[in-house]
Amino acid sequence: MKAGLSIVVPLYNEANGLARLHAQLADVARKLAAARDLSVEVVYVDDGSRDGTLQIARALPAAALDVQVLALSRNFGKEAALAAGLDHAARAAVLFMDGDGQHPPALIETLVAHWLDGGYDVVYTAKAHRENESALRRLGSKTFYALLNWGARQRIPEDAGDFRLLSPRAALALRQMPERNRFFKGLASWIGFRQIRVDYEPAERLHGATAFGWASLLGLSIEGLTSFSVAPLRLASLLGVLLAFSALLFGVSMLFEVVVYGVAVPGYPSVVVGLMVLGGVQLIMIGVLGEYVGKILSEQKARPIYFIAEHSVKAAEDETGATRTAAE
Ligand code: UDP
Ligand code: MG
Repeated sequence: MKAGLSIVVPLYNEANGLARLHAQLADVARKLAAARDLSVEVVYVDDGSRDGTLQIARALPAAALDVQVLALSRNFGKEAALAAGLDHAARAAVLFMDGDGQHPPALIETLVAHWLDGGYDVVYTAKAHRENESALRRLGSKTFYALLNWGARQRIPEDAGDFRLLSPRAALALRQMPERNRFFKGLASWIGFRQIRVDYEPAERLHGATAFGWASLLGLSIEGLTSFSVAPLRLASLLGVLLAFSALLFGVSMLFEVVVYGVAVPGYPSVVVGLMVLGGVQLIMIGVLGEYVGKILSEQKARPIYFIAEHSVKAAEDETGATRTAAE
């Protein structure tokens, strides 16, 4: 593993903004080479895009930085794309950022400073605020993190995004996680080491719309929850206890009514309500169990997380070499 920094960028239909992003990354690479003698490579992972993303990525110049282009055999999802990028990153430290321009390249120098000067291993970014999001969405994310961190030893920080830098030893740790069901934010926090949060203001998307609508966000949340915590299962036990306890209270109160007041208890409605509550809770919890069983199945099958259709490596052109020899 060479010293330096790999920047992993997952791409799904990002043809419009890619050239601009690449130019910005090359600028950052030039600055890092000059200021810190840090050699940088970028790893673009095309996650089965349907537009011209791959063609554009292939043609990007390797000026000031090495360029790797990986094309997955189909759309595997962002987590798989990140995994592919991490597996192929040739430098010791790894930085992950989105390819849609929402993660400002200018912030990279700040992240690198926390790593090199501050000695931090995981430098993660978080949205400074969520004021531009709907109340429902904020509530959703609050609930998600509350469940996720329930009883957890290592709390996964709220609002943390996928824009983060891992020092060589943190990247090595992340590389050792074999699971198929990946939840990157969780994994990067779970490994520990010295972590620091950097707040930033996410930029507007350069173009297009987010690939994550309501349904896929919900899917991702269930994925993250069940691959990271057993809180939903614990919730089932808790609900069971609660139900049993209220049934006991109900039973006692009925007994009381019959014995003390001599009231004939109406049977039919209470039985039906009880049945429906029990039936509903049981069905939900069977679903929750199913999530975990499915997870065990897919881990058990141990299929590869992604397949590579195409891989190209371009070494940085003379530019950096020239500046480096000049500096020496
Ligand atoms: N992405 C990907 N595969 C997918 C969906 C998205 O590689 O199936 C990439 C996308 O190109 C972008 C990043 O993941 O670089 C984040 O996607 P998006 O901007 O849609 O998500 P959001 O910013 O809304 O979280
Ligand atoms: Mg985005």
